[in-house]
Amino acid sequence: MLFDYHMHTPLCGHATGHPREYAAEAIRKGLGEIGFSEHNPMPEKFDDWRMDLSDFSRYLELLEEARKEHPQLPIRLGLECDFIPGREAWVRQLGQKADFDYLIGAVHYITPDWDVDNPLKLDRWKQQPVEEVWTRYFRALAQAAQSGLFDFLAHPDLVKKFGHIPKGDLLPYYREALDAIEASGMVIEVSTAGLRKEVAEIYPSPKFLQEAFRRKIPVLLSSDSHAPGEVGHEFARALKLVRETGYRELTAFRKRQKIRIPIS
Ligand code: ZN
Ligand code: FE
Ligand code: FE
Ligand code: ZN
Repeated sequence: MLFDYHMHTPLCGHATGHPREYAAEAIRKGLGEIGFSEHNPMPEKFDDWRMDLSDFSRYLELLEEARKEHPQLPIRLGLECDFIPGREAWVRQLGQKADFDYLIGAVHYITPDWDVDNPLKLDRWKQQPVEEVWTRYFRALAQAAQSGLFDFLAHPDLVKKFGHIPKGDLLPYYREALDAIEASGMVIEVSTAGLRKEVAEIYPSPKFLQEAFRRKIPVLLSSDSHAPGEVGHEFARALKLVRETGYRELTAFRKRQKIRIPIS
């Protein structure tokens, strides 16, 4: 019943392990389905943490190799695409490059040169108030939802990764993004990756998730694995959170179509 759609390959330069090892770990942990979602290529050299355009066919091959070795495990094709204003046409073009099961929309960049989750850019946090960073981040997340480019959104409150969190009620930061996600019909990730970061909390926060549930925004679980051992990481905990919030189903994807999976 459980599946994990957010995992990387060595092609992005900061993940380890062949997809066949991720598949083996998924089977070992009892997952029924997995999907890969490498960081999307850009038309030009853009940063140092994404797959090169010239490696795209290798990406498809790696998944094929994993499928051959584990024919009993469905392995879906995805891509984690950065939402960057002005790059919408490029993402649309990428979506035509293969028969994708889903495209994940991700906000990492809140300005043209600040990927807010980048540990090498931690000094930027000292240069502006946390409130401003959060406002920018969730505005970008709202725009990502409005773009209509993606099937689901990655790590909805990634901006908290290093523990930079404004004081007081966070709902005013979330609201614009939640409105846009609700209107778009998009799905959001409940990602256990945050548990492995400084913040030590699932993405999104319980408050964000409660508001998402109230608005009937569908969810799925993901690990954002960058190593085989991370596949399905802490899914029992994520499932418990999702159930306690009120959810009774998860959303799977096939050829960019939603499939509702009851939580047993
Ligand atoms: Zn990554
Ligand atoms: Fe990401
Ligand atoms: Fe990722
Ligand atoms: Zn990610």
